[in-house]
Amino acid sequence: METTTCRQCGTAFAPHRTTQKYCSTACSRRRRDHEWRARHHSEATQSLRAQLESTAVKYRIRSQEAAVEFHRLLDAAEREARDQLSFQANRHERETEALRTRLRDLASINVDIACEIPELKAQVTELQLENARLIHSERADFQELMQIAGRLFELCSRLGLPLDKATKEIFQRRGWRTNTLVPKQ
Ligand SMILES: [Zn+2]
Repeated sequence: METTTCRQCGTAFAPHRTTQKYCSTACSRRRRDHEWRARHHSEATQSLRAQLESTAVKYRIRSQEAAVEFHRLLDAAEREARDQLSFQANRHERETEALRTRLRDLASINVDIACEIPELKAQVTELQLENARLIHSERADFQELMQIAGRLFELCSRLGLPLDKATKEIFQRRGWRTNTLVPKQ
């Protein structure tokens, strides 16, 4: 008698028909159940996989959109920063140019003043010399006046005359002696 192996439990058995694959109806049912469960499980897995893929696609699209938006914002920020920088640079350049112009004006004024200084110095020196000459001349005049005053005082004393009023006032102003030797009568 020929035997074959049960495809469900692996037991060797003598089949009634050549197409018999299982040792018993229990094994056959078990096999059927197992296959049904495997098929069902596979369907569930496929459905879950499809769901996951769809979700992944959705998130991929959303992520791409976010990336596009991010780049858009980044570009805008970069443009803004560049504009700001360019504006500041222009203003700075204008201010620098204004300062440079002012500096040039001041430099030219400075040159004018520098040219006038030697002239002014010469004038000051001249005035100082003139002043010294005047002081010297005044001293000489004073000495001559003293000489004349002394001589007048002496002559008046010898003649026994008092000083006239105007001369006396001059003597008094200068702190000189005014009482000539007038003989008592
Ligand atoms: Zn079996």
